[in-house]
Amino acid sequence: MSSREQYLPFALPDIDGSELKEISEVLASGWVTTGPKVKQLEAEFAEIVGARNAIAVNSCTAAMHLALEALGVKRGDEVVTTPYTFAATAEVIRYFDARPVFVDVDKQSLNINPLLIEEAITSRTRAIIPVHLGGLPVDMDPVQEIASRHGIPIIEDAAHTFPASYKGRQIGSISEMTCFSFYATKTITTGEGGMITTDNDGWAERCRIMSLHGISKDAWMRYTVEGNWYYEIIAPGYKYNMTDVAAAMGLAQLRKAHTMRDKRRAIALQFNAAFAKLPQLELPADSPNVEHAWHLYMIRLHLDHLRIDRAAFAEELKKRNIGASVHFIPLHIHPYYRDLFGFKPEDFPVAYREYQREISLPIYSKMSDDDVQSVIDAVVEIAEENRR
Ligand SMILES: *Cc1c(COP(=O)(O)O)cnc(C)c1O
Repeated sequence: MSSREQYLPFALPDIDGSELKEISEVLASGWVTTGPKVKQLEAEFAEIVGARNAIAVNSCTAAMHLALEALGVKRGDEVVTTPYTFAATAEVIRYFDARPVFVDVDKQSLNINPLLIEEAITSRTRAIIPVHLGGLPVDMDPVQEIASRHGIPIIEDAAHTFPASYKGRQIGSISEMTCFSFYATKTITTGEGGMITTDNDGWAERCRIMSLHGISKDAWMRYTVEGNWYYEIIAPGYKYNMTDVAAAMGLAQLRKAHTMRDKRRAIALQFNAAFAKLPQLELPADSPNVEHAWHLYMIRLHLDHLRIDRAAFAEELKKRNIGASVHFIPLHIHPYYRDLFGFKPEDFPVAYREYQREISLPIYSKMSDDDVQSVIDAVVEIAEENRR
């Protein structure tokens, strides 16, 4: 049996002296919370994705919560999204006591199936949240066509998807609002962090105000001659602001975002070439219309060609000292959503079926050539030894 000496983690951030240098400047400056570094990160991020506004916050979950709030989502409203995603995508809908209306996924891309969106729309639909799963952009043209015909805004969950593009347009510049994650395992990280991009100044302003206690500082500028100590609370906001310490790390990460993505893409191509001849595996979807962010490398097992199931396959990887993961347990089979809405696994048959045969392999820029080769050797060995 092939085995690495050292355990290969499933994910690792790519951090070097550049983050430390940026953070040291912040610490030395004496200003450690939201300030000039956050402004700079917002400006550089907006420039890269081609958006008018970028609002930095402390997570993608916060970003999506604020985006829905800016749209005025209320109790009893509906938001159309995918069950094949992380907890955050639907929980932010529940924050408003609104209803996530799940739409099954496309069996190739595992992204929301645009052909099923229309029938999920009702007079209560306030937004559509597509998720670019694993960094593969959703086929946005049909989604936009349906959304604009019904006058429904789109909030993209781009937690996996920086940098990436769809038909030459950067993710972050396409829909009404786009939300990014800078969580520890994501494509760039600030430890914890997130970003909202939008061309709509009104929504941007609302997100900014609600990210910091619902405080408006503009009022005094417009209406009073009071000093800069004056502020007005216009709504019960949240505490979602990003710190300058985190933003400093983000600036260093932003500078190598494309290099890191190119490295992940190179790894994906190596995996694709090495696994192409194995009938036991289905390789991740890609498309000539997009630039994939390659946040995840998601394989699916052809169980009819294997004598072991997904759990055993993952166990075999672990025995060979290789970290793997599963993305995602569909939301509708989790106890909370199952019990609240009475879902059965087969209600979203593609999501349920594909989940049962999915495994994600390590793909990150810190991986050495030997790391990549060890993953290939292990996967090929497990697939061949358990061939049916
Ligand atoms: C990680 C993730 C989020 C949440 O990101 P945070 O920054 O951790 O809040 C949202 N959606 C998806 C699909 C994710 O994977």
